[in-house]
Amino acid sequence: MTYVDLVLNRLATGQEREAVIGGDTRLTRGQARDLVFRLADGLARRGIGRGDGVAVFIGNTPEALLLTVAVHLLGARLVYVPPEPGQRELAALIEKAEVAAVVVDPGFSTRLTGWDLAELPGDPVERTPAPDFTTVSYTGGTTGLPKLAVHGPRSTSRWEALSHTPSLTMLCSTLITHGSGAGASVGALVTGSKLVLGPSVFDADVFVRLARDEQVNATFFVPPMMYEVLDHPDCPGPQFLSIGLGGSPLAPERLRQAVERWGPVVYQGYGMTEAMAIAFMPATAVDLAKPHTLRTVGKPNPEMEVEVRDGDVWVRGPHVMRGYWGEPPLSETSDGWLNTGDVGHFDEDGYLYLDDRSKDVIVTGRTSDNVYSRLLDDFLVTLPGIRQAAAVAAPDERWGEAVHLFVVVEDGHELDLHEVEQAVVAELGDLYAPRGVTVVPRLPLTQVGKVDKRRLRALLR
Ligand code: AMP
Repeated sequence: MTYVDLVLNRLATGQEREAVIGGDTRLTRGQARDLVFRLADGLARRGIGRGDGVAVFIGNTPEALLLTVAVHLLGARLVYVPPEPGQRELAALIEKAEVAAVVVDPGFSTRLTGWDLAELPGDPVERTPAPDFTTVSYTGGTTGLPKLAVHGPRSTSRWEALSHTPSLTMLCSTLITHGSGAGASVGALVTGSKLVLGPSVFDADVFVRLARDEQVNATFFVPPMMYEVLDHPDCPGPQFLSIGLGGSPLAPERLRQAVERWGPVVYQGYGMTEAMAIAFMPATAVDLAKPHTLRTVGKPNPEMEVEVRDGDVWVRGPHVMRGYWGEPPLSETSDGWLNTGDVGHFDEDGYLYLDDRSKDVIVTGRTSDNVYSRLLDDFLVTLPGIRQAAAVAAPDERWGEAVHLFVVVEDGHELDLHEVEQAVVAELGDLYAPRGVTVVPRLPLTQVGKVDKRRLRALLR
């Protein structure tokens, strides 16, 4: 049994209830189930079967989400195409993924050609879901070369546990083609929650409107999205039963603000494209009186082995990818272990802390020491007038790299670099002293909504 069985079973009950909403489309459970079978039929008629690669270039719409379920239903290989790359990189990616077909939602993008999603549905032929399938996701990779991470179906035990949780109204604000949005939206379908899909590109105004109009009580954010909502003049009140965060570092001060505003409903998850569900910090364990509970990403998922080796976090277990497409599986090369590329440590109680992405560490000073940019990012937003901050390495003749800050300040606030420097040195020491600062109206975000430090570094070269 896979999650597809659970989704279809759920959609077969209470068929008149609303299941998936997005843009102008509102589908009941019955309509959603019907569309999964229609899409599977359309694919099957065009020759798609078990193991065939189907690349999907889609945004956040109900039809697109149900397409991904349909591909898995047939036991095919679902290849998520990310939104970022330019034409040439997209073509290279499709070639590398060795797919049998590409399905495109022209409403999302016309940069790729393929079968039009709107024309795909066939007849609502009920099919038994295949017992196995794979999912392939694009990852920027630490070397800068895009790689394709291959996952098998996740065990249904987690989904089955979820399927007994009370149904919610879930607003999915991240892309359904990224692990975060896929996890949130599939979780909603499995639990019979009403799913509201936010636009493919996050927009805090739309979030605020949908949260109000659809009476949303659960959501998942990449942290920078939550910061925009917290700073929004119409930020929702304490209407949520569950708010998930993950995908990039969460500033403890911002987590504090979220809990103060929304109550003890904010949890954090740590995962990555190559390894989902590594660690989890439940909302009930976040205690404003205990600052370390605002900094940790929680304890390892009991199904996963997590070790810190020479500062790097390594993981092994059922949520780790099988390997990269076209390369030997991890089970052959590293006994299943994966280096996450995150620098971290455990405390004596077994809580995991992420100090930085290894590529974001700034190596500076006379003895080439490590500055964890994340510590700076978290500290800077506690200073008056600073809303958002990102510290990155600037090339520097004397120190190899120098700390450079990009900050978003409150309207009318005059930033005094000298004051900032003094505060940083008092808190984190001389090594962390910024050598330069750029005030920006907003930090650049990736399409998934994470602060794009690569782009910031490029500005300094
Ligand atoms: P991606 O493969 O795009 O999902 O990015 C995965 C990376 O995001 C991880 O390796 C971490 O560096 C970062 N990340 C994910 N979740 C968290 C979290 N809760 N706290 C800090 N960083 C995170």
